[in-house]
Amino acid sequence: MKAVRIHEFGEADVLQYEDVADPVAGPGEVVIKVEAIGVNPVETYIRSGIHMIKPALPFILGSDAAGTVLSVGNGVTTHKPGDRVYAAGSVGEGAWGGCYAEQMLRGADAFLPLPDNISFAQGAAIGIPYGTAHWALIKRGRAVKGETVLIHGASGAVGTAALQIAAAAGITSIGTAGSQRGLDLVSEQGASHVLDHTQDGYLDAVADLTDGKGPDVILEMLANVNLARDMDIAAKFGRIVIIGNRGPIEINPREAMMKELDIIGIALPNTSAEDIAVIHSALYKGLADGSLNPVIGKELPLAEVIEAHHAVLRPGAYGKIVLIP
Ligand code: NAP
Repeated sequence: MKAVRIHEFGEADVLQYEDVADPVAGPGEVVIKVEAIGVNPVETYIRSGIHMIKPALPFILGSDAAGTVLSVGNGVTTHKPGDRVYAAGSVGEGAWGGCYAEQMLRGADAFLPLPDNISFAQGAAIGIPYGTAHWALIKRGRAVKGETVLIHGASGAVGTAALQIAAAAGITSIGTAGSQRGLDLVSEQGASHVLDHTQDGYLDAVADLTDGKGPDVILEMLANVNLARDMDIAAKFGRIVIIGNRGPIEINPREAMMKELDIIGIALPNTSAEDIAVIHSALYKGLADGSLNPVIGKELPLAEVIEAHHAVLRPGAYGKIVLIP
C-alpha cells in the first residue's frame, strides 16, 4: 500500500509518500481501508521532532482517519468487514500514528462506529478536534448551560467543534477568526458574536457582549499571544483553558489571584481510556442527531501531504483539512 512515512525529523520535506507492506490484524486488532485522514497541527510538531511524542523511525504519521473495516484479528467481536468506522483515538503512542496510509491498523477499541449521516471526510475530523473541544469545554473548563465561552481561534478544526458542542449544550459562544471567510464560518456555526483577532483592540467589545461580566470560560488556541488579555477580560471565577500555545508570554499572576481564575492547560495524550470513552459516547449522540456536523475546509490527495502540512499552519483556517488516499 501507499503511505506517508518519516525516516528523520525535520521540515515538511521529510514526509515520504512511498510503498510499505500492508498491515495484518493480530489478535484483538482491526485493519481498515482508509477513506479520509484528518491533518492536525500536532502532526507537524511530531514530524519536526519537537513534540512530547517522539516515535521510533520510520513512522507513519496521523492520529485521525475514517474508513471501512477490511479485516479483524482473533477475538474481535465488535467489528466486522464492511463496517464504517472512525479512529477515535486511544491511549499510548499507537494513537498518534498509522493514519497517513491506504490502510491502517489499531486495537479494536480505537475504532468507533461512524453514524450513517457523517461522511468519511467528516469522520476524519472527529478524533483530535472534537475530542479536544469536548475535553476542554465540558470536562476541564466545566462550562454549563447558560454560561458564556470565548473561543479564541474559532475558525479552525478545534474551534468549530467547540462552537457546535457549546451550542448543543446551551452555552453561549463568542468566537474569533482572522479572515472574512473564517468570521462568516464562526457566525454560521452558532457564535452569538464574532470578533476579528487581527484588529487592534478587538477584545474591548467582550465586556459589553457579556454585560460587563466577562466570559465564564475561554478556550485559547494561541496562549502565547492572548493569555495576558484573556486574564483581563475573563469573568470572576473564570476558567481559561489553554489548548494551543507556540511560545512564552509574560502575565501578571495577581490578576488570577484577584479574580480567582483557573488557568488550565490541557493535552489530549493525558486522557485515559475511560475519558476517551465518555467523550466519544457524548460525541456519537451529537453526530447522530446532527447537532455536531464537522466542517471540511479542504481536501487534498494523500500524495500532497507536504502542502497539507504547510496549509494547516497558515492563517485563514476554515474547519478541517483532510487527505484522501
Ligand atoms: P487550526 O484548524 O489550524 O486552527 C487554528 C486556529 O487558531 C484558527 O482558528 C486561527 O484563526 C486561530 N488563530 C490564529 N491566530 C490567532 C490569534 N492571534 N488568536 C487566536 N486565535 C488565532 O488548528 P486546530 O486543529 O483547531 O488546533 C488549534 C490549536 O490547538 C493548535 O495550536 C493545535 O496544536 C492545538 N491543539 C492542542 C491540543 C491539546 O491537546 N492541547 C489538541 C488539539 C489541538 P485564523 O486562521 O482564522 O486566523
